[in-house]
Amino acid sequence: MRGAQGDLLRLVAAGHAESRAELARLSGLAASSVSLRVEELIGSGLLVEEGAGTSRGGRRPRRLRLSPSAGLLAVADLGAHHARLGLLDLSGTPLVVEERPCDIADGPEATIDGMAAAFEDLLSAHGPPGVPLRGVGTGIPGPVDPATGRVVAPSRMPGWNNFPVAERLGAHFDLPVLVENDANLMAAGEARSWPKCETLMVLKAGSGIGCGVMVNGALHRGRGAAGDISHVRVRSDSSVTCSCGHDDCLEAYASGAALMSVLNEQGIPVRRPADVVALVEDGVPEATALVRNAGRLIGEVLTVLVNFINPDAIVVGGSLSPAEPLIASIRAAVYERCLPLATRDLEISTSRSGPDAALLGAGSLLLDAVLA
Ligand SMILES: [Zn+2]
Repeated sequence: MRGAQGDLLRLVAAGHAESRAELARLSGLAASSVSLRVEELIGSGLLVEEGAGTSRGGRRPRRLRLSPSAGLLAVADLGAHHARLGLLDLSGTPLVVEERPCDIADGPEATIDGMAAAFEDLLSAHGPPGVPLRGVGTGIPGPVDPATGRVVAPSRMPGWNNFPVAERLGAHFDLPVLVENDANLMAAGEARSWPKCETLMVLKAGSGIGCGVMVNGALHRGRGAAGDISHVRVRSDSSVTCSCGHDDCLEAYASGAALMSVLNEQGIPVRRPADVVALVEDGVPEATALVRNAGRLIGEVLTVLVNFINPDAIVVGGSLSPAEPLIASIRAAVYERCLPLATRDLEISTSRSGPDAALLGAGSLLLDAVLA
C-alpha cells in the first residue's frame, strides 16, 4: 500500500497510536504488515520503540514514538508576490513559518535560488542541532507535471513554461524534492482537518483560481491537470480574452488578478487580493459587486463538478476567501442548481487549516516521497 509507512508514522507522531497493535487497528493493515513497516521505520531512524506502554493486563506492549532526531522538511508555498516558507517535523507540525516577499515575474532561476537560500536561513536559525533535513518541497501557482516536476503553460508566470523546478531545487539539496500545484497542496493539507470526508474539493481563490480534489485521503492528480478549473468557459454578457488566448475563461472574470485589474481601471488602487477583501469589508460597492459576481461564476462551474463528483465538502481557501460575499454566492449557486441528492449533506465552508494549509499538504506529500 502506497504511503502506508507515512500513514503509520503520522499515526504515531500525532499521538493516535503508540503500539503495533494500535497501528494495526487504526490503519486496517494486517499485524504482520504493520510489524514489517515499523521495523523499516525503526531501521531508518524515524521511529524508536522503548519502555513499556499502558498495561492492559498480560504482556506490556513496548511504546513507539517519533525519534526526536527523525528529521525536518523544508516547504514553501509560492505566490505571485510572496512566498510562505516553513520547517516541519516529520509529523507535519510546523517548527517555524515565515512569509517573505518575492516576485514570481523575476523568473524561475532567481525565485528558486532565493527559496533555497531562505530554506538555509530557516535551518540555521531554527533547525535543532543534529536533526537532518529529509526533503524539500514547494507549491507552484500554476500547472505542474507530477512526473517531471516541470511547470506547464502557467498564466502570469513569464519565463516559467516547461522550467524544471524540481531539478533546480534538487541542485541545492541532494534530497527528495516535491513540486506540486498550490491548490493540490492546499487540498492535501486541508484534508487533515476533514478526516471524515471521503471526497473533498478544495477551491483556492487567490490571484488565480485552482481546485484540488482528495478522494479517500489521496490527492487525485489525473495526469497532472485534475482540478484546474481556471480555463473553464463561463457565461457572461461581456467578452474578455483570457491570458490563455481564449475568451471568457473563469479566471478572466473571477480570479483575484482579474478583480484587481478591473478595480485599478476604475481608479480604485489595489495591489493584492487582500486589498480587495479589505475594500469589501469597508463596504466599497464596486468591490463587493465584483466579488459577488466572481462567486456566482465560480459557483456555476462548481455546480457541474458537484453533480459529477458529488463531494462531501467544498472548502474555499486562498487570499480572496475571507471576502464573505464570495462564499455566500458560491453557496447560492451550488445549492440552487445542483441535484438535491448532491447537496443534501454537502458542506461548503471556509478553510479549517488556515493560511498554512498548503505547507501542511506539502509536508504530508513530501513525507510519502521521503519514505518511498
Ligand atoms: Zn483561459
